[in-house]
Amino acid sequence: MSKSSLAQRDQAVIWHPYTQHKNMTPPIPVVRGEGSLLFDDNGKAYIDAISSWWVTIHGHAHPFIADRIFEQAKKLEQVIFTGFTHEPAIELAEKLLEILPGQYAKIFYSDNGSTAVEVAIKMAIQFWQNLSDQNKAPRRKILAFKNAYHGDTFGAMSVSERGIFTWAFQDYLFEVIFIDTPLAANIDQILTIIRQYGKEIACFIYEPLIQGAGGMNIYESSLLDMLLDEICAQHIICVADEVMTGFGRTGKPFAGEYLRNRADIICLSKGLTGGTMAMGITAATQKIFDAFLSDDRQKTFFHGHSFTANPIACSAALASLDLFQKQECADAILRIEEGHSLFANRIIGFGGAKQVRRLGTVIAFEVRSGKDGYLNNIGSLLTNAALENGIFLRPLGNTIYIMPPYCITDAQLKKVYEFLIGWMESLSRNSPG
Ligand code: PMP
Repeated sequence: MSKSSLAQRDQAVIWHPYTQHKNMTPPIPVVRGEGSLLFDDNGKAYIDAISSWWVTIHGHAHPFIADRIFEQAKKLEQVIFTGFTHEPAIELAEKLLEILPGQYAKIFYSDNGSTAVEVAIKMAIQFWQNLSDQNKAPRRKILAFKNAYHGDTFGAMSVSERGIFTWAFQDYLFEVIFIDTPLAANIDQILTIIRQYGKEIACFIYEPLIQGAGGMNIYESSLLDMLLDEICAQHIICVADEVMTGFGRTGKPFAGEYLRNRADIICLSKGLTGGTMAMGITAATQKIFDAFLSDDRQKTFFHGHSFTANPIACSAALASLDLFQKQECADAILRIEEGHSLFANRIIGFGGAKQVRRLGTVIAFEVRSGKDGYLNNIGSLLTNAALENGIFLRPLGNTIYIMPPYCITDAQLKKVYEFLIGWMESLSRNSPG
């Protein structure tokens, strides 16, 4: 099948996510993946430098995960998860509870990052409703960070930045108290807001240490801890959205490991299955779970999806976890961190780059060109130039970032760095003055 005919068939029938279809560049038909590489239908290879929307941690079509998926698919592909259970779901829950950064007691399965967040918010809201006979007035307010991104479903959009992704739905989103991410200069002001609302607040949701889709905004763990100290003092439920940061992205297995304070609820997805199957997880402490135990059936958590705890997805996650826990994986993460560090020193030298920042396997900077933000078109120009060079990068507006699969080779990483250096050089040559 030729590239053009596949692209034409695609455009006749498919509506892509986050895509303006008017005058779009035709999508690239990908027929195969291997390690950090994606191959199109002409055999051209692209280095997947953003892990296919941050999910692919061990590389594409990993044979170890593929075998486990195949074995599970032949045994049990799906079963309703109410009234029934299965070993992959139990084993995965047991293993995750051992390694998650907190005293979690129960794992709730869903389908993706947004549903993991929906489940967390619903748990937190109903927690206070379920306790309302003891407590009289249930807590109703929700606290989140400005510039946050927690997903595209309505609850997840409500706790996310009210901006370009959510403007059309503004009137339908529930009310949230938004605070700035903490800086030395604003921490006292933020603490005052939290104290002001105090015991009216049901939960606080946050992306620990790095706000992803909001532009790879990295902030200090010690300041987040100061904020969480107050959140805990007010007995507000902490919801850590580790959908992006989970499974090694920040250099530690979970971003929560940089913090003193533990969240009551944690959301995971993306790297969970090594990027092979769609799955979300919401883990909760015993305290949260206990608030739902009752003879009153109304206090049940009435939430579930057809594919909750799909056995194939659970098996993929177990296989991915096996790979993740190998020394080889920790070494690979360290190697990427070192590469990023050297690259950061080079890119800082460019007048056209600002706010070079990095955490674990993520490095980001802004290009000085036009207005900062998601609608800045410089990102698409970079994407096209990178694709020509066999690299896939997808900046967030003028925020350029690299977030590679951990299996990326030194040579591949070098190719991405050198491309970006060359592109930045050509940008400064062509910029006036
Ligand atoms: N939370 C965070 C922190 C995310 O980065 C994302 C996705 N980029 C989501 C939630 C939503 O995940 P999904 O796209 O799987 O619904």
